[in-house]
Amino acid sequence: MTSPGNLTHTQRMLAAQPFCVFCGGTTQATTLDHMPSRVLFDGKHRPKGLEFSSCQPCQDSTRKAETVFAVLSRFYPEPTTNTQRAEFQKLLRAAERHNPGFMREMETDQVGHLHRLGNEAALLPSWNFLNVSGPICTDSISAFSVKLGLALHYEITRQIVPKGGVVVVARFSNVDAFTGDMPKAALTLFGEGQTLEMGKFRVADQFEYSSVYAGDTMNMSAHFATFRMSMALLLLACHSEADIPQGVHGDRFRV
Ligand SMILES: [Zn+2]
Repeated sequence: MTSPGNLTHTQRMLAAQPFCVFCGGTTQATTLDHMPSRVLFDGKHRPKGLEFSSCQPCQDSTRKAETVFAVLSRFYPEPTTNTQRAEFQKLLRAAERHNPGFMREMETDQVGHLHRLGNEAALLPSWNFLNVSGPICTDSISAFSVKLGLALHYEITRQIVPKGGVVVVARFSNVDAFTGDMPKAALTLFGEGQTLEMGKFRVADQFEYSSVYAGDTMNMSAHFATFRMSMALLLLACHSEADIPQGVHGDRFRV
């Protein structure tokens, strides 16, 4: 049962990296965590790849947050097929069940948003605004983003962010994208986006990412990820607070 030929995929992955990549690299991993998780993709249909050694507590820690993120990432473009609409409603109910108050929190003053945007409102493809800055949305996006930052850092550097490391998270809505409130200068650092793919099955319409890292010491990496046309994340993973470059904006989360 233990000859290399008949190890399962999970056993092979855990042999290659026996420690959880999400909590500092000192906890034994017992499972594989998909980042982003399957729930973000239509019909939970996700190509292989971006699978990471994880301990059970780290895998479980973002389950509730992921249902919220799965809903938020599907707001634009709006679901079009009956299957997509049914899945959206199911996810919305699950997110509300896991995070009571989620739906009410997103309600917002539509006219107030139009006023605030002024002429820029004309740049937007839809005027169906949502409040995504309440505590449930904010905490969910943060939990998901930190985990994605740690995962992508490992993916590109093969290094685990140690305890004391930091992930800096800046998030952008599709309103930011359409009205030009994205940090264009920072984004020019990144190459063309990549996605998960298996043969002809690609999910670039649902998730794309691009990563850069500090070449010599591998102690820092930056990532730009987009989720459909709903949301974008700019993530910086650093092995210590001191590695964070000057002028970096965003919320800081310590490992
Ligand atoms: Zn862990």
